[in-house]
Amino acid sequence: MDFSFSTEQLQLQTEVRSFARDVVAKTVNDRWREGRWDKDLWSEIGRRKWPGVMAPTEYGGMGATLIEHSIILEEMGKVDASLAAALNSVQQTTMAMLKFCNEKQKKKYLPRLAAGEAFALTGITETAAGSKLTDMQTVAVQDSQGWVINGVKTEVHIPEYVEACLIFAKTPNGISAFLVDASNEGFKTLRSRELVGLRSTPMAVVGLENCRVPQENLLGREGGAYEIFFNSFDVTRVGNAARCIGMAEGSLDAAISYAKERNVGDNVVTDFQGIRWQLAELVTKIDGARWLMYRAALEYIATGRSTINSAKAKLLACTTAMEAATVAFQITGSHACFADQPFARFILDAKLSEMTGGTIEILRNTIARDLLGKQTAPTP
Ligand SMILES: Cc1cc2nc3c(=O)[nH]c(=O)nc-3n(C[C@H](O)[C@H](O)[C@H](O)COP(=O)(O)OP(=O)(O)OC[C@H]3O[C@@H](n4cnc5c(N)ncnc54)[C@H](O)[C@@H]3O)c2cc1C
Repeated sequence: MDFSFSTEQLQLQTEVRSFARDVVAKTVNDRWREGRWDKDLWSEIGRRKWPGVMAPTEYGGMGATLIEHSIILEEMGKVDASLAAALNSVQQTTMAMLKFCNEKQKKKYLPRLAAGEAFALTGITETAAGSKLTDMQTVAVQDSQGWVINGVKTEVHIPEYVEACLIFAKTPNGISAFLVDASNEGFKTLRSRELVGLRSTPMAVVGLENCRVPQENLLGREGGAYEIFFNSFDVTRVGNAARCIGMAEGSLDAAISYAKERNVGDNVVTDFQGIRWQLAELVTKIDGARWLMYRAALEYIATGRSTINSAKAKLLACTTAMEAATVAFQITGSHACFADQPFARFILDAKLSEMTGGTIEILRNTIARDLLGKQTAPTP
């Protein structure tokens, strides 16, 4: 096995690291506190084609792989978890579009997404349907001209900049996925929702009211949403793992640079063995999560799927990010308790990362099913 990066991958890592440190870091605290999406910053990122990392060059992308996506998300996650999450969201819709859209649809949306000129959303979650997709109440009904969709999606990002939406809805043979243009008169932003973490990628509720789409906007087969879901989620779970690894590193770096200088009596904080051991455990978990993540990425590149390994990578990465953020806050002492410091942001961003893209419970269920088979005992 060769775990080394190519020269191009190392260059990309350096480029994202410098951009995150020199540009993104300057405004990250303010954007997070204000819950503000920065369109100009997204355009800058788009100028580097990072939102289109896995889109082929003919659609304006970088034509790279899940390894490069992971490199970008880890470096961005170290500084700004919200922006890293936005990069992953776009990738989610992009993956579905690459595999299931026709040529005309790809040419219309993908170049603008890759260039940071537009945003894309995937609308699955509803008030009554989170982890269990089959509880979904959005329905699509077929008529002679195509499909009519009705329903409400409660957790989607920045619809004001969205052009392409991937909407999941119930159809006669299960759940199906539809491409909906945001200019469709049946697609409406109903209200914004204030997030407590990952705040600079704002969230909203959108309604689909007699939203009519042509037949060609049914992606894949009718009732085939799970194929589309896993095609995208295997990629974004690796992306989420990369983002969380970056977040864990970012919070520890901030805490260590403070604690190394903080005198307590004759010691500095990092002299205390209890603290040294916690930090040693955490960097070990970060390294473990990183290798799980690259194993999942390589498996996806080789086979086109990585459901179990990406679940393991995301589980270890996001729980480690949560633990790292908590330890970082604690060892920074009361200095961490003020709003001009990033430590509360680290904790809230990490907590939300245990929720999004598959909660830690759903990831554990996926891994346990692989290990033990389907659960047969009735659950309370
Ligand atoms: C920042 C952020 C971004 C998001 N982005 C999007 C997006 O772009 N598009 C979109 O459609 N959605 C999005 N979501 C929604 C996200 O996918 C859901 O929050 C997630 O699927 C969980 O659904 P839920 O919150 O309704 O939890 P529920 O399904 O109501 O579950 C509640 C709790 O019960 C646990 N639970 C559920 N089933 C089981 C079980 N079988 N065994 C053990 N425990 C269980 C869950 O893990 C959770 O802890 C986002 C959420 C966040 C926080």
